[in-house]
Amino acid sequence: MKKSTEVITRTIEDANMQQYDEAVSNFQWETVEKGFSWYGQEKCNIVYEAIDRKCEEGHAGEIALYFCDGTRDEQYTYEKLQKLSCRFARGLQNLNVEKGDRVFIFLPRTPEYYVALLGAIRIGAIGGPLFEAFMEKAVKDRLEDSDAKVVVTTKELLSRIPLHELPELKHVILVGADEADPGKRQVTYQEIMRQDDSPFVELVSKDDGMMIHYTSGSTGKPKGVLLSHYAMVHMYLSGKYAYDLRPDDIYWCVADPGWITGTSAGMWAPWLNSTPVVMRGGRFNPEEWYATIQKYKVTVWFSAPTAFRMLMASGAEISKSYDLSSLRHILSAGEPLNPEIIKWGVDTFDIPIYDNWWMTETGSTIVANFPALPIKLGSMGKPLPGIHVDIVDHIGQPMEPNELGNLAIKPKWPGMMRMIWNNPKKYNDYFLNGWYISGDSAYKDEDGYFWFEGRIDDVINTMGERVGPFEVESKLVEHPAVAEAGVIGVPDPIRGEVVKAYITLRQGFKESDELKEDIMNFIREKLAAHARPRIIEVRDKLPKTRSGKIMRRVLKARELNMPTGDVSTIDD
Ligand code: ATP
Ligand code: MG
Repeated sequence: MKKSTEVITRTIEDANMQQYDEAVSNFQWETVEKGFSWYGQEKCNIVYEAIDRKCEEGHAGEIALYFCDGTRDEQYTYEKLQKLSCRFARGLQNLNVEKGDRVFIFLPRTPEYYVALLGAIRIGAIGGPLFEAFMEKAVKDRLEDSDAKVVVTTKELLSRIPLHELPELKHVILVGADEADPGKRQVTYQEIMRQDDSPFVELVSKDDGMMIHYTSGSTGKPKGVLLSHYAMVHMYLSGKYAYDLRPDDIYWCVADPGWITGTSAGMWAPWLNSTPVVMRGGRFNPEEWYATIQKYKVTVWFSAPTAFRMLMASGAEISKSYDLSSLRHILSAGEPLNPEIIKWGVDTFDIPIYDNWWMTETGSTIVANFPALPIKLGSMGKPLPGIHVDIVDHIGQPMEPNELGNLAIKPKWPGMMRMIWNNPKKYNDYFLNGWYISGDSAYKDEDGYFWFEGRIDDVINTMGERVGPFEVESKLVEHPAVAEAGVIGVPDPIRGEVVKAYITLRQGFKESDELKEDIMNFIREKLAAHARPRIIEVRDKLPKTRSGKIMRRVLKARELNMPTGDVSTIDD
């Protein structure tokens, strides 16, 4: 299949990592560990490292967090976050919350989200970030699976927590409520916060649990991924090398803390690198998003392909009416980044967008387009220094360059999950012949760049050829009529499978047989004859996870009249 050969050679001149090859060849995790206060000791705490240390080292009065949501507009220094989270931590101790207990946060994107998460982790409890849009079943599944002891929420979200089905859930902390009903295990946030704010932290073992993040549910029931405090080493390094964060940056990661990107890349990586964070409440809206960049003079921006595609669809008129010149670095993760989006980035912001590949289970970035490297459009880039990534076959043997196989990682790297909560079998299933198998299919080219093909389960086999849905989707959105695309294989008696494309149309285009024909030919000419969709279905929208990923398994299940499985993370 024709792969993109376009390259953007421009690199960030004064990047934290000047030379990729040099960084890789000299790399030792120990050198990174030496930068942490716990180096040479057994005990640590990520909250101490991210917040308290900044205060102790003379940065107490610097802004750590900017927040706005249309009604509130606030700033928090490191000292303020330290004090608030110490109060919250003591409040939890008063409720007899102990090290290892699970404390879940089910809140809108507000500073209280961070205060609660920092407070829980400060005492060695395990923080469980949830996304505010989860409905009752999704909330119950996660609180039940993890045996949560506490949930922090609001009055508005309370109706989605089925207390009677959750006997292990001892306390419900209500943010923004004047009163609470103890008979319903409730206590107000104000009550919890009525505590001394002097600094304290529980040091724990590096391997102790820090957060449980549930995966996005793209391929099945979400898994409870346990990350340890030691993941801080990895998050710090991703922040430094891939996100290129520095103390004088203003950094905005749009991901909700309910997803791994929102915590790992959204709070830990920047604070560990002394970089102030912008948090914006509310839902997606192109005007407000551009206005946020303008208002805070955001320098580094982390978003996702789905959001970029929505901005792209909203048109250049809107982007041109804001001053976006503060941006110096833009990042993407979570889904394949279509070359089309990178080109739009160059047109709109005068800088490219840098792709990052990782999973909830990996804790932080694994493969990235680094500021120090040319970008091959459509490629995910190269491994983070210190992490050994390769392509292996079905028995776990490394493959030759340009051969498609399993994207695999050599354990253990610092951010690696410590377990799948309540499911040791699932955890063990990730490993093969000494490799962690990601479940994604990819290949490595002769220069060591990795190219994503699709989820192993999504790869289409048609007439003996493998077709990666991502490549077809990327080409489809290059067609002027196509806004978004989801591609699956449907069974065919002769060809094994054929390619079927679900698309949404850009404004101004109407569905017709001619248009479909034109799109099919476009793929045949620009990609490959066997990749041409034989069926195109136009939809108003595509099924997506709340984190913006196209749920191909849902398209497929509906196509085959099969049960759709766990859809707790589906958007609307
Ligand atoms: P589940 O594991 O519950 O099915 P999920 O895999 O979508 O859901 P996450 O851990 O949030 O849950 O997402 C990780 C997956 O996202 C990766 O395995 C990969 O398929 C996809 N992904 C992440 N970043 C990229 C990227 N830069 N390019 C392509 N795919 C990506
Ligand atoms: Mg997954």
